[in-house]
Amino acid sequence: MQHSFAGLPSDFYTRLMPTPLPQPYLVAASSQAAALIGLDQASLAEQSTLDILAGNAIPDQAQPLSAVYSGHQFGVWAGQLGDGRAILLGEVPTEHGPIELQLKGAGLTPYSRMGDGRAVLRSSIREFLCSEAMAALGIPTSRALAVAGSDQGVVRETIETSAVVLRMAPTFIRFGSFEHWFYRNQPEQLKTLADYVIARFYPQLRDAANPYAALLEAVTRRTAELMAHWQAVGFMHGVMNTDNMSILGETIDYGPFGFMEAFDSNHICNHSDSQGRYSYGNQPQIGHWNCYALGQALLPLIGEVETAQAALDVYQPVFAAKIDALLRAKLGFTTAQDDDRDLLDAMFGMLHDNHPDFTLFFRRLGNLQVDADTSEEGNAHPDAPLRDLFIDRAAFDAWALRYRARLRQENSIDSLRKAAMDAVNPKYVLRNYLAQVAIEKAQQKDFTEVARLLKVLQRPFDEQPEHEAYAALPPDWASHLEVSCSS
Ligand code: AMP
Ligand code: MG
Repeated sequence: MQHSFAGLPSDFYTRLMPTPLPQPYLVAASSQAAALIGLDQASLAEQSTLDILAGNAIPDQAQPLSAVYSGHQFGVWAGQLGDGRAILLGEVPTEHGPIELQLKGAGLTPYSRMGDGRAVLRSSIREFLCSEAMAALGIPTSRALAVAGSDQGVVRETIETSAVVLRMAPTFIRFGSFEHWFYRNQPEQLKTLADYVIARFYPQLRDAANPYAALLEAVTRRTAELMAHWQAVGFMHGVMNTDNMSILGETIDYGPFGFMEAFDSNHICNHSDSQGRYSYGNQPQIGHWNCYALGQALLPLIGEVETAQAALDVYQPVFAAKIDALLRAKLGFTTAQDDDRDLLDAMFGMLHDNHPDFTLFFRRLGNLQVDADTSEEGNAHPDAPLRDLFIDRAAFDAWALRYRARLRQENSIDSLRKAAMDAVNPKYVLRNYLAQVAIEKAQQKDFTEVARLLKVLQRPFDEQPEHEAYAALPPDWASHLEVSCSS
């Protein structure tokens, strides 16, 4: 194990040991994440691994530390934050480059502020499942190796039990890591951090005319592309504060996230976000706002405001190109046509008015047959399962007519199109109620449902007839589910 972050000056972090988790047990593990760092199934089950997962032992050559950072929370400068419950152990070399191992929920740190340094089982399972689900969806994300639980109680709205997630990413450096040194007026540290990030993660930028502007542009591009991915799959992060934005453009710091179910572009997944700053429809714009915050922080290194502005200006075109490409693929188009935007806008208008389930809509759209006889009514209608998602059937029919015409324009072949659409429109996403069922069982010490759900979510695009129920609409009881910042 190595630790390049620990090679940064000592004011970037505090070295400390994890707080032991009493009598830990293994709640869940991802063999796919394990494979990334060369761990096999057998070693995942070993007591010595569990000791590390729980923070009760540390790997050879680990140099545990918590990093300092700051950030804007809900649009307001929040000052110093930092790893309040995360401890970075070090990095493991892999064929894709070094991957850092971080324990989340491993006890108090100098940055814990009012918190207790712990994470509850509920949010740990959610982070674990969603990290692995997003990876399987092909969306940039930190990974989760495993969750260790304990009966140790922690106080939230009620008393819950604690857990630790072992997360993995090439780095957990955030936009807020840069803002920290900018707002403290410490340009040397700012430069040290930027040079570290460029050397390790953006080495091709070292020779750019202005490497710091090039860094801002590269991060802006990745962030714009990430937002397009989120929108296309209906993922809502819930807390897009600048301290939760990865400098690599990966999804990190899973909290009160959600996947869009009944479509509503104003949907707010985080119960604590009363103003809806991080609603589904706002995410792309907030991604841009966050890049501005990063640009502000990098300005002392970049020099001219115009240079920083030019780097930030790539956001809109990159986002637009990516979302258009993703949406065309979701609709099964192999070509781009001039009036595709109109068709997409009409589709979103129809989704917004009718609130069909987002995931089911796109998945069922793949079954549409271009030349079907649509004169039949009711169950005999060839589009029935898809059309039935809409209250206003006539509105759907009108859109479907345009969609069919568009498909004919490129001589689309039903079977080929369905295969291509099924490969990009997931059948299985981490619906809140699915997570909730797995969590409630885990709270009773039955971890089988977490494991089963993980398996389903690792193959989101495959038909899994034995798991059809996991693709179903949420049951009535789920309408009361709320997720908040409490974790
Ligand atoms: P978040 O927006 O959830 O990623 O967290 C914002 C800040 O609060 C970060 O600095 C976290 O480390 C810190 N934090 C959240 N929960 C806790 C906790 N239970 N104990 C200590 N710090 C926490
Ligand atoms: Mg965070």
